[in-house]
Amino acid sequence: MANIKDYAIVTLGSHTALQILKGAKDEGFKTICVCVKGKERPYKSYGVADEFIFVDSFKNFFEIEQQLIDRNAIMIPHGSFVSYLGWKKVQDIKMMHYGTKGILEWESDRNKERIWLGDAGLKQPRIFATPEEINCPVIIKFHGAKGGFGYFIANSTAEFYERIQNYPGDEGYVIQEYIVGVPVYSHYFYSPVTKELEVMGFDKRYESNADSIGRIAAKDQLDAGIRTSYTITGNMPLVIRESILPQVFEMGERVIEESRKLIDYKSGQPLTKGLYGPFCLEAILDPDLNFYVFEISARIVAGTNPYINGSPYTWLRYNEPMSTGRRVARDIKQAIEQDRLEEILG
Ligand code: ATP
Repeated sequence: MANIKDYAIVTLGSHTALQILKGAKDEGFKTICVCVKGKERPYKSYGVADEFIFVDSFKNFFEIEQQLIDRNAIMIPHGSFVSYLGWKKVQDIKMMHYGTKGILEWESDRNKERIWLGDAGLKQPRIFATPEEINCPVIIKFHGAKGGFGYFIANSTAEFYERIQNYPGDEGYVIQEYIVGVPVYSHYFYSPVTKELEVMGFDKRYESNADSIGRIAAKDQLDAGIRTSYTITGNMPLVIRESILPQVFEMGERVIEESRKLIDYKSGQPLTKGLYGPFCLEAILDPDLNFYVFEISARIVAGTNPYINGSPYTWLRYNEPMSTGRRVARDIKQAIEQDRLEEILG
């Protein structure tokens, strides 16, 4: 039987690396942290990595890829990995990679993502092709606006034109219906080994300054000329009404089914393995309990970080601490032990 001792789990020292490496260690794997020089402190302090490989920048990943291949390492991609390399470069990775690489193009492109979610039958905020069509509150999202910095809200065409003047930008933007409701980020895991979809947990984000504006009176907000920004600073755990759970499972299932029909950029063929491993649907839940999904992340999200010791939902299923990082490692472990490693590499 293949032995997990012959493999190592690696990720970049950022984003969700602590839980990925800790989870891999708990499952019995050797762990490697690829770290930017000077950023290793948390990974050393928490003792999650057996080995460090240093780079000047994550963009130099390809310089050290061969070292990882030599160690029989399996890469667990996370948000920083995809963001530093870009979905296109990820396609060129030769080392073992957990997850379908071709899916990353679909999650990284707002238009493609919309087609995917739409075909899966999910409700999404409306998009307005031109400012003239604005007939409800809208949120203007600039492309490449890291962490939602500089987004603004407008209630009419006139207000849109007034406010857009403050943005010099050559950058494109999208005008999206503003959904009044609460943000709910649903964390999923789909295992190709067990063929089962799991709901791992939920979070809401802690964003500066959006989450602080309500602490001062509306008049003071206006006087201070505060502009809303959504810079993510952390994540807060959340449990949702139990009666909504069936809807959450259905949404996840439909997204997975649809993902198997998406076309791979490289081969021009459907991505038959589809989406698997951890993923997240980012939605606003309105007062009628409709989920309006505005984004999908086809990899582990930082919102799972509060659950390094497991979430209320993983506790129900596992009776042992089960972070999303550990769940990934367990999937890999089971695949190795059942001689099915190919099924989980993409
Ligand atoms: P990215 O990952 O692309 O940088 P993000 O995950 O930070 O983006 P955004 O889509 O940029 O998320 O949204 C930023 C914030 O705006 C979040 O708090 C989200 O809840 C809120 N938001 C996004 N779209 C809408 C919408 N259509 N209606 C209401 N609120 C929204």
